Amino acid sequence: MRVLVVGLARTGVATALFCAKHNAIVTATEARAEGELGDAPAKLREAGVTLEIGGHTEKTYLAQDLIIPSPGVPADDPFLQTARSKGITVWSEIELAYRFLEGKLIGITGSNGKTTTTTLVHHILQSAAIPTFLAGNVGTPLISCVEEMNSDTVTVAELSSFQLELIEKFRPDIGLFLNLTPDHLDRHKTMEAYAGAKARIFENQTELDAAVLNADDPPTVLYAPKKPQVFWFSRKQRVEQGACLSGDDIIIVHHAKEEFVMKRAEIPLAGAHNVENVLAAVTAARLAGVDTAAIAQAVRSFAGVEHRLEFVAEIAGVRYYNDSKATNVDATLKALDAFPGRILIILGGKDKGSAYTVLQKPLREKAILALLIGAAADKIEKQITGSVAIERAATLNRAVEIAAHAAQPGDIVLLAPACASFDQFQNYEQRGRVFKELVQQLDATSTLDSSDRGE
Ligand code: ADP
Repeated sequence: MRVLVVGLARTGVATALFCAKHNAIVTATEARAEGELGDAPAKLREAGVTLEIGGHTEKTYLAQDLIIPSPGVPADDPFLQTARSKGITVWSEIELAYRFLEGKLIGITGSNGKTTTTTLVHHILQSAAIPTFLAGNVGTPLISCVEEMNSDTVTVAELSSFQLELIEKFRPDIGLFLNLTPDHLDRHKTMEAYAGAKARIFENQTELDAAVLNADDPPTVLYAPKKPQVFWFSRKQRVEQGACLSGDDIIIVHHAKEEFVMKRAEIPLAGAHNVENVLAAVTAARLAGVDTAAIAQAVRSFAGVEHRLEFVAEIAGVRYYNDSKATNVDATLKALDAFPGRILIILGGKDKGSAYTVLQKPLREKAILALLIGAAADKIEKQITGSVAIERAATLNRAVEIAAHAAQPGDIVLLAPACASFDQFQNYEQRGRVFKELVQQLDATSTLDSSDRGE
């Protein structure tokens, strides 16, 4: 088979190597120059992959049986469209991986909470001594795990709308749809297209499979599928099947039987949204056969994931939180909701076409200062003006400086920017790391200050 892999980031490289190993005639095409690709070109050439680097040509696309675009390539890319119209198959990497998959698959999608929930489910399975893989956007690409799977393994995969958009038979045994809020509208154009792509997680499920959805999130409720058994999770209401809160208890309901899991207060992560993530993870783990005592023990020991409402330090009575992964407005709303008040929030970065006006109310109620950085600062300022004091800080460095100066003991300094990072940083991870370094530097300075004063 002639296979073309488009894009040579981590997933693309893994996919090309996998196909070459399975005796396909593989070409890989990449817009970036060879110098930017590290050791990937050498590895791929050694594996017999033909490379088209520094641009794409239609001729290459049309010479294939199968094309696998990387998650970053738009599905409506003109070359892909032309190839499709000529009958060439276009799959995402998860579709290819699915054809080789063994054991059970838990797939997790949604606008927010995917990584946290996926990591938590994996952590619970691991704690229960079930052989498990953490795959997808977090961990390793699914394609890199398939060769190590067997009938006993349970793979937990984080799935994006971009990957689900290009499936054909892909079918998780347990599929989770966590929530749906506007994101990636720069790429999917309409909410319907974005939601429709995510809902494909249930498309091929059968009566033997389980679908898990958020009963508190009306937009996802609409996508409850017909065929698989449906389980719900909810913070606000009792569910017929699934996990919910009963007073302060987390319980599982199945076949009209109730099982106590743990107290809500034992969840080691801040914020109501993390209660939702825990409820979703608990449901999936229980469906995968883990008993409630083992689930509770594992949840208690879950450290959370870096850059997700991560506590950084307390300096001079001010607590600093890194939520660099709050790259959309909903995640920022959830971060604001996680604290009682007196928040100095750092907002801004690369705009993704979102409306920031919904931030006005929580900013008015919870924040004392908004520090604006990056390319979206003008738009954000226009849309939140009047709700909170605003400082144009331009850079993260300056924002931390101003926040540290303005904050009083008891205040919270929160990086939850509601935007992507690409205007000033390589990615959200780098933005989060820079924030943490700036905070650590403040710490060093404040320690110096106090020792200078002989305190
Ligand atoms: P994803 O992988 O879907 O981007 P993450 O777990 O990485 O999700 O979290 C992304 C951002 O969303 C973080 O800022 C995090 O604090 C916030 N978040 C996590 N879980 C939820 C949730 N259930 N609802 C809304 N926001 C959430």
